[in-house]
Amino acid sequence: MDVELICVGTELLLGEIVNTNAAYIAKRLAEEGMNLYHACVVGDNPKRLKAALELAFSRSDLIITTGGLGPTADDVTKEVIADLLGQRLVFDVAAYENLIKRLKANVKDAKISENNRKQALVPEGCDVYENEYGTAPGFHCTVQNKHIIVLPGPPKEMRAMFETEVTPFLRTQSHLFYARRMVKTHGLKESTISEYLQSHMEQKNPTVATYAKPYGTDVRVMASASSLHQAEQMCESCAAEVCAILKDAVYSIDGMSLEETAIAHLQACGLKLMIVDGGSRGVLLSLLGKGAMEEVLLDYRLMHTTVSSPLLAAEDKSKEILTVSIASPKMDADGKMNVTITYQGAIDEQEIISSYQDGEGFYNRISYAVLDRIRRI
Ligand code: ATP
Repeated sequence: MDVELICVGTELLLGEIVNTNAAYIAKRLAEEGMNLYHACVVGDNPKRLKAALELAFSRSDLIITTGGLGPTADDVTKEVIADLLGQRLVFDVAAYENLIKRLKANVKDAKISENNRKQALVPEGCDVYENEYGTAPGFHCTVQNKHIIVLPGPPKEMRAMFETEVTPFLRTQSHLFYARRMVKTHGLKESTISEYLQSHMEQKNPTVATYAKPYGTDVRVMASASSLHQAEQMCESCAAEVCAILKDAVYSIDGMSLEETAIAHLQACGLKLMIVDGGSRGVLLSLLGKGAMEEVLLDYRLMHTTVSSPLLAAEDKSKEILTVSIASPKMDADGKMNVTITYQGAIDEQEIISSYQDGEGFYNRISYAVLDRIRRI
């Protein structure tokens, strides 16, 4: 399939931002066995964008655009595409609901402006892509056996959409077979993992890529071959090499999340859990979820606490119980927040998690550190 890429944004032409979207998409298209023969940048100018799209439409099977989907008047991508295809822009309820959810997640009583509503307009009859990280939906139009895929500009939004929506579509168009494994890790920084896996990350097939997540770093291994069996074998042996390098940082391949791994490990060890939570603000409990409450959790208290564990009566100091006490954050002279986690019972240890920023990211880190320690008992 011949693909053409059009990145929209005057900022790109002025050199104010680097076109990392083009680099990402070009690399991914090559990995997926697609021919990218043309790539260009166009400013936020409807006439020039239309000309670029017409040219692309005349010579390529698939056009991918990024950018120009924002709420302001200079964001013109979808208006130009609808005009080119002779289609109306229609209001997409699901996209609008996602937009409201995203805006309210940032500012509780956010006002939804007319311009915001504009972001929920898409060409009639297109396949709408949900934006996991932002407000502008992407979409896919099919006309005369040709395809136009429209993605948002912000790289995080674009990449997520590329992986969840575009990649599966590309695979329906390719003659190659793909196999993929996701090696899930916790305890090593993404930069450290990239260093350890440098030679793997430079190879062309199988490809190895890292993704930083709130719960750790995922390492994607993907192989392509002319038969599924061969692709799976190549992928399997590369994933085994990755696991051998990353050792006990690996907690699962494809399957369980860190919280599921921790709960399963507690069950396998015959351990019950008691938690005093002064530091994760309930995030740990929500991660543990219903499964843990039924299976392993004896007690959970959300309260301001010092390091000592008020839950642990003398008779509870058994090796069959793990008591985790997460102290409330203390700020040091540097302005750094420190949270001390004390483990008693099955293990007897303390660790300190530090951050310059209080907030959801910090509570996640604390909670995932506890889950990681549990799964290593
Ligand atoms: P938004 O809804 O956030 O306005 P959008 O789809 O309209 O998104 P743009 O307004 O074109 O996208 O770009 C928003 C931001 O995304 C830019 O300021 C820039 O930071 C980033 N961005 C856009 N295009 C690219 C690109 N090709 N490469 C890297 N970053 C980009």
